[in-house]
Amino acid sequence: MHPMDSPLQIEVTTTDRPVSHDRLAAILESPGFGQHFTDHMFLAEWTPERGWHDARVTPYAPLSLDPATAVLHYAQEIFEGLKAYRHEDGSVWTFRPEENAARMTRSSRRLALPVLPVEDFVASVDALVRVDERWVPEQAGEKSLYLRPFMFGSEAFLGVRPARHVTYLVIASPAGAYFANGVQPVSIWLSEEYTRAGRGGMGAAKTGGNYASSLVAQQEATEQGCDQVVFLDSAEGRYVEELGGMNLYFVQDDGTVVTPETSGTILEGITRSSIIELCGKLGHAVEERPVSIDEWRQGVGSGRITEVFACGTAAVVTPVGRLRWGGGEVGDDTTGPVTGEVRTALVDLQYGRAEDTFGWMHRVL
Ligand SMILES: *Cc1c(COP(=O)(O)O)cnc(C)c1O
Repeated sequence: MHPMDSPLQIEVTTTDRPVSHDRLAAILESPGFGQHFTDHMFLAEWTPERGWHDARVTPYAPLSLDPATAVLHYAQEIFEGLKAYRHEDGSVWTFRPEENAARMTRSSRRLALPVLPVEDFVASVDALVRVDERWVPEQAGEKSLYLRPFMFGSEAFLGVRPARHVTYLVIASPAGAYFANGVQPVSIWLSEEYTRAGRGGMGAAKTGGNYASSLVAQQEATEQGCDQVVFLDSAEGRYVEELGGMNLYFVQDDGTVVTPETSGTILEGITRSSIIELCGKLGHAVEERPVSIDEWRQGVGSGRITEVFACGTAAVVTPVGRLRWGGGEVGDDTTGPVTGEVRTALVDLQYGRAEDTFGWMHRVL
């Protein structure tokens, strides 16, 4: 390894029981999402006395946790998600990993967890990808290696205060298309009973708790025959925020692209902010502003809104074909041209098929 890359010294212990060549080939043929994990994982520990220490890549294995471990009771946890992409020439790259690191810093502050320096975050992801390089699929079929850095209060203690022992890990999982039936328009259920975040809450932090609170609404969406759920603001129940794990975009009939502004209750997606810049380059005017649920419903009906799409690292850019609520629905289940244009521009950049004019790609191998 390259311990000089970072102040955090990374010890590497490789497994003597790697997944066999044949088994790996079968997994990479059809990886699904989040089902198979690579041969290794990255770990580091933090205490107030020592700061970050014991950074290491070790064989992938279960963790042993005391039943009193803080995270199991009070959910002091944050995570990140990014992907490693293999380019045509065999090289391996991640997309804007410093942005994930910066967001994890913001999440750390909100959850009273220690800050992992940006360079150590990037070094941790690079170290795991280098050791598990054979798990980075070829790019055909939009495959990639999904990386999941996460951090949690690992002190065994039942009092309510920030943990004094924190563990940070990175695990990796080969990924195919996020949705089982490929890039097809999804249907969205409007949650009118539940919200995901309120003013002063954790909406802008990438934390498991936000997902825990979204599950019952997602369950309702499934019962209503929809793929995903959309949440409104908790104060007025009037403005569109985001899906359970993806940000939203609306395309107007004049070509303007609109996304709900982030004001503390929406997760600031890196895909979302990249699309703002990409749309500018593609010649679309971009607006970040409040979008009411009535604007969505009426706009699709009147033709003012011509396309809706969702975005996030896992599912990239996904067309929204239909919005349903208790008592009605709008949408014609099609994919529009701007959605396709944005999606292609982004994945071409990530897979090295388009010039990286923004300097967004980070070479790992
Ligand atoms: C991670 C996440 C997103 C998407 O963020 P990206 O950085 O684009 O992957 C959107 N909403 C929520 C709630 C998320 O957790």
